[in-house]
Amino acid sequence: MALKERPKPFLLPEYCKGCGRCIDACAKGCITAGHQINPLTGLVPVELDLTSCNACGLCMDACPEPYGLRPAHEGPIPKFELEDPAKLYGVKPSDAPEPQDVPSVVLPLPRTEPLVIKGTYASAIGAILAGCRHVYGYPITPSTEGAELMAKFLPKLDGTFLQAVSEVAAVNMMYGTAGAGLPTMTFTSSPGFSLMLEGVSYMIGSELPGVFVDVMRGGPGLGNIAPEQSDIKLACHGLGHGNTQALVLAPSTPQEMLDLTILAFELSFKYRNPVVILSDGYLGQMTGKVQLPETMLKPGVPKWAVYGDALHRKNLISSIFLTETDLEAHNVHLNAKYEAMKVEVRSESFRCEDADVILIACNTPARTAKGAVQELRHQGIKAGLFRPITLWPFPIEALKAALQGAERLVVVEASAGQLENEVRLALSKAGVRDYPELESVRRMGGILPQQDEILAQVLGKKEVLA
Ligand code: SF4
Ligand code: SF4
Repeated sequence: MALKERPKPFLLPEYCKGCGRCIDACAKGCITAGHQINPLTGLVPVELDLTSCNACGLCMDACPEPYGLRPAHEGPIPKFELEDPAKLYGVKPSDAPEPQDVPSVVLPLPRTEPLVIKGTYASAIGAILAGCRHVYGYPITPSTEGAELMAKFLPKLDGTFLQAVSEVAAVNMMYGTAGAGLPTMTFTSSPGFSLMLEGVSYMIGSELPGVFVDVMRGGPGLGNIAPEQSDIKLACHGLGHGNTQALVLAPSTPQEMLDLTILAFELSFKYRNPVVILSDGYLGQMTGKVQLPETMLKPGVPKWAVYGDALHRKNLISSIFLTETDLEAHNVHLNAKYEAMKVEVRSESFRCEDADVILIACNTPARTAKGAVQELRHQGIKAGLFRPITLWPFPIEALKAALQGAERLVVVEASAGQLENEVRLALSKAGVRDYPELESVRRMGGILPQQDEILAQVLGKKEVLA
């Protein structure tokens, strides 16, 4: 019986990271360090001279890269296409027609009396009315009631609520559900949101929709369970590794918890991107009047979904782009999408038209600031409130309009300046250099700014206005 000839190695240079393990493994000296930079990878692959090779295979065993050193095939080496996952895993031969969008259906909702509910409940009901039937989460105060309500409702609506073993598991369940084109969400709070960020980055990279309701609490670390605006920086600039952005909505009433949750689902599918709702511990627990909308949504199926049927079999969802040029092109595409999101800015200007003093605040501190504006007006001081509802993108044009004629700007927040930094960044990027020095009223650790503290800040410098 003829012995089968053992294959010698061949090298796919674009998968060699030049680690040198194969050099050490080869007793015949067939492999040497390379001298040429591979233009596709920027790395230096090894070089092979197989004159003395006895096909022992040790180099292939030593190579940690799945496609670095491979056994040579007889005859010409087939063209290798591993640099494109779509060619490997994505497009399958299929006679099925191209999938098309199945549009969502708007259904009438009977008019009801307003509910009186807490913010987390309002958000959960908003999600159900937006068509969300898949919710995953890990309990964390002060967000847990939202998940708790979903656990009660969803089984009765043919939906799924799953308490995951961790936030990491929850966000990856969202990834899978969103990949199937279905609306999905989670309720979490600051330390839990931090744990989810790897998955958020994956969802952004894979262009998957999903709604994250972060009921912010005191930090850093485990902090406490009292309200703080601790995640503004994280949501606006730190959504995992890489080039990641998401629309960030900041409600300030239970009604907005419902309205903005419904909007968040719409926007997350419109842009195929996660949306973050930044609530705070006080707003999550605060009870208020909530009017339900007159319609609700039966979601459709987007054509890009990996829906699990023959029609959608060609679809691929992935954040892996192995070649640098492909990944750069993907990032350019993401940047264009982030730019397009800038039309979604939202804000409220309260009595800013003639204001000498503008307070800037969001979430629960905006409610306190609005009370301060009314008291200041009562005392004859022209005060106004600018409330960003989208924190990313920041509503800079509306802020610029509100600032016309203002002599003082006071940022009121429950953090160490995270909102103020957003204001400064937005003004700087918009080229606004000429604006009053920013003053601040800040509390931390779970303590919200109080109205008398805002009044003291403004009235303490009353003479500046004279
Ligand atoms: S198969 Fe063996 S002899 Fe040939 S290059 Fe690899 S380690 Fe060296
Ligand atoms: S072991 Fe693999 S990755 Fe490392 S230098 Fe050799 S071929 Fe390249």
